[in-house]
Amino acid sequence: MNLCHPNTIKELMADAGIVFRKDYGQNFLINPMVPYDIAEACADRTDSMILEIGPGIGCLTAELARRYEKVVAVEIDKGLIPVLGKTLAEFDNVTVINGDIMQTDLRELINVYSEGRDVSVAANLPYYITTPILMRLLESGVPFRSITVMVQNEVASRLCAKAGTGDYGAITAVLGYYGTATRLFKVPAGCFLPAPKVDSAVIRIDLYQEKPFFPKDERLFFNLIHGAFEMRRKTLVNALSSKLSDYCKEEISAAVSSLGFDLNIRGERLSTKDFIQLSDALFDGKHAAE
Ligand code: SAM
Repeated sequence: MNLCHPNTIKELMADAGIVFRKDYGQNFLINPMVPYDIAEACADRTDSMILEIGPGIGCLTAELARRYEKVVAVEIDKGLIPVLGKTLAEFDNVTVINGDIMQTDLRELINVYSEGRDVSVAANLPYYITTPILMRLLESGVPFRSITVMVQNEVASRLCAKAGTGDYGAITAVLGYYGTATRLFKVPAGCFLPAPKVDSAVIRIDLYQEKPFFPKDERLFFNLIHGAFEMRRKTLVNALSSKLSDYCKEEISAAVSSLGFDLNIRGERLSTKDFIQLSDALFDGKHAAE
């Protein structure tokens, strides 16, 4: 069965009595090279377990099952579960779970299914919920090796941006705390059924197995990043002065200067490591004064 053929997809859905659900971001792949390439790129070891988010009718799931020891796929749309039962019938290494990835206990799922294997994530992510899913994976504390996902092209540019460029934003600086993101390839809108309005791209996030830098106060560090980008056109000092109620403008200026930055610098020029150093300088200044 060619799971990327538009007629196959339509027939499978018609037989199951279901239609494409826009509210679930259902744009299914119809170019077989794309799931092939995602599956090839998403893990370094064939004895890995792959967690797939949103298998749809299973075109990527099948490619994963051919390469990796174990695949667990979480699909929110219960109408697709019997379809997946049919399309993945030949594989005994796939478990399909009907559930919402935002409500899934990821630690529990890994405990039950990984049996000590390295775990990586692969997905053609639903666009309506891309950032919340990525943040949930990153913040889960589960030691995923990597996360290989298809996202909107412009989101890929933001996630992979370098500090100081127009695409660099809060999500880029936050992601840099957990790992490094690499853009793999672009996927034109015509590769999906139905075709979305914009192009997509596949990125791979390699997660630090041990973080190379650690802020003394993690909450302060995240507040700094969000404060710096909420008021992007302001200087970093002014943006943070409005955001951080515990620190006055003089304390923030002193911390920015102590790192050797000009007082007129904008937040978008700071790397993740810079934000960590700045939050530590603020933390140390406050605690030295106590
Ligand atoms: N993997 C398939 C493909 O590439 O053709 C389908 C990808 S489609 C863009 C996104 C899939 O995610 C859909 O099957 C959708 O039902 C599912 N989905 C949407 N929200 C979800 C959620 N919160 N948890 C799990 N699956 C979800």
